Amino acid sequence: MYFRNIIGQKNIIEALLASVRQQKIPHAQLFSGTEGAGGLPLAYAYARYICCTSPGETDACGMCASCKKFDAYVHPDVHAIFPIHKPDSKKTWICDDFLKDWRNQLVESPYFSYANWMNRLRADNAQGMIYAEESDVIIRKLSLKSYESTHKIVIIWMPEKMNISCSNKLLKLLEEPPANTLFLLVSPQPDRLLSTILSRTQRIHIPGIDQASITTALQRQFNQSNAEEIDTCARLAKGSFTKAVECIQNAEASNPYLDPFVRIMRGAYTIANFSPEKRIEKQKALKEMKLWAEEMARMGREQEKQYLSYAQHMIRENYIRNINQPQLSYLNASEAVFSNKFFPFIHFKNIEGFMEELQLAERQIENNVNAKLVFFDLALQTILLLKK
Ligand SMILES: [Zn+2]
Repeated sequence: MYFRNIIGQKNIIEALLASVRQQKIPHAQLFSGTEGAGGLPLAYAYARYICCTSPGETDACGMCASCKKFDAYVHPDVHAIFPIHKPDSKKTWICDDFLKDWRNQLVESPYFSYANWMNRLRADNAQGMIYAEESDVIIRKLSLKSYESTHKIVIIWMPEKMNISCSNKLLKLLEEPPANTLFLLVSPQPDRLLSTILSRTQRIHIPGIDQASITTALQRQFNQSNAEEIDTCARLAKGSFTKAVECIQNAEASNPYLDPFVRIMRGAYTIANFSPEKRIEKQKALKEMKLWAEEMARMGREQEKQYLSYAQHMIRENYIRNINQPQLSYLNASEAVFSNKFFPFIHFKNIEGFMEELQLAERQIENNVNAKLVFFDLALQTILLLKK
């Protein structure tokens, strides 16, 4: 991780560079800010810059022995502490037991959430923790001479996950820091830290990433995705790159029912807005609706019912969006993209009609009425409802 790889955060980078330039690096710093805003990547880019033996004005050189070690996150003077989940109680587990996972994660992307990390440790529903043993390990490591750098750097990710005895030992270290040792704490919830730890650290607030930088980063990472989806996710992420990535991934794991929903609404809209000079479009749309009903009827009863319940969800969410502030929280990115144009057509004049027709269709499918007829009738009712 280099400063140049950081998404946005120009002001923070400038402040960190200035601290090195002026040789005023506080020995304990706390990077606090929303998860996904880049606290951890910033800590690693900063550490790399500090350790680099021939740094440039704005970034590390990338060529020296230290930089090479940073590439693989194996620098012997840089130590990481992070929450772990003990797979069993057969031994004393410490962060070093999970270093391979940690490095793999960082190489893959240093922008990751706590949930991503627990997932990697296959501890989805378990709580991660930084245990008391960790502070003993770090005290021992810091008592040794540094290998090659002028500094020893300890990066603590999510220090709020430290148990109390670990916190107290860390506090002692912060109070009487070993020479040339730098502590970089990265915390999304600094309010959960001991106030005595807070008062021993220089706090740097990492703001949310600006939307334009998130958009650019998403375009680079997901060049296959469509532009509107990327814009929507960048906006919904509210400054968190990990949220933005999650949003795109959700959109890509697309719901199988969105496509038929979009098809029928588009077809019905074309017919509902029929003007005499668009006769051919109308005929095409009618044919498409018949085809749609036939395809729906081939899905099987359970899936047909699932589709109908999904359609009710979509109608409801678009209605809510129409009457409220644009509120997208229950739509994923691809649904939201469709909704951008669709929501004005669901309003108080047709919401009840839509719900009644969809529920009627559900009952008919349940009662084994011919599915082709049910769906074709639904398509015709949709035209009438969109005309209201
Ligand atoms: Zn270097």
